[in-house]
Amino acid sequence: MPEKIDIHGVMIDNVTMNEALDKVLSMLKGETPQKIFTPNSEIIMQANRDPELKDILNSAELVVPDGAGVILASRIMKKELKEKVSGIDLVKKILISTGKRPTSFFIFGGKPGVAERASINILSDYPKAKISGFRNGYFEENDIPGIIKQINESKAEVLLVGLGAPKQEKWIHQYANQLNCKVLLGIGGSIDVFAGTAKLAPEFMRKAGLEWLYRLIKEPKRAKRMLDLPRFILLSIKKRQY
Ligand code: UDP
Repeated sequence: MPEKIDIHGVMIDNVTMNEALDKVLSMLKGETPQKIFTPNSEIIMQANRDPELKDILNSAELVVPDGAGVILASRIMKKELKEKVSGIDLVKKILISTGKRPTSFFIFGGKPGVAERASINILSDYPKAKISGFRNGYFEENDIPGIIKQINESKAEVLLVGLGAPKQEKWIHQYANQLNCKVLLGIGGSIDVFAGTAKLAPEFMRKAGLEWLYRLIKEPKRAKRMLDLPRFILLSIKKRQY
């Protein structure tokens, strides 16, 4: 069992990307659905205001640090996490590993047409991957039984859920026991990235931990929400162990 590091009440697995991938591969051999969440600093701050979200995050079988902010906080608090394990990079690793072990995916989330475009791009970039279904992420309460039926009938092993936080975490937690998949992974806006409707920050910015700046430039309407990032760092400084 990997060590867990407490980042403001959210217990993050202290794993490298390769260790996270190994854990996913072992989940694929299991029988019951396993939850994976990928919190960044904004989600951890949301969890501090929403105890239900915090409990849901902490109930997952794997919780990986998505973003440079979480790694920085762990360093400030002297409980250093090994490395950033972002949701999108983890999904790419799983897709690459499907070359050795065929794995089927269901893509759930994004605006109409986005999951479909993401599926097409994934199939062209990872020819051995199998996409057994997709569905947009906009629905009413009474559509949910039909969505669960569609996912189960697809026989997908990995369900990628991109409904934004905390919707995706709550949805996965609530319906996990009705789903026949092996891995349920909350991936935020990654479906848009696979579809090409959103772009990842350039490599040099990701390496410098500046994804947040790129995102702010691309989506200025996120500014208010992004105030959580300095708050998150300040909270980490307050909890610093001397
Ligand atoms: N989304 C969705 N259903 C919803 C709300 C959002 O499928 O009811 C999708 C949205 O289209 C986008 C993704 O969730 O692809 C992430 O949304 P957002 O950027 O708001 O969330 P965050 O990045 O904060 O997790």
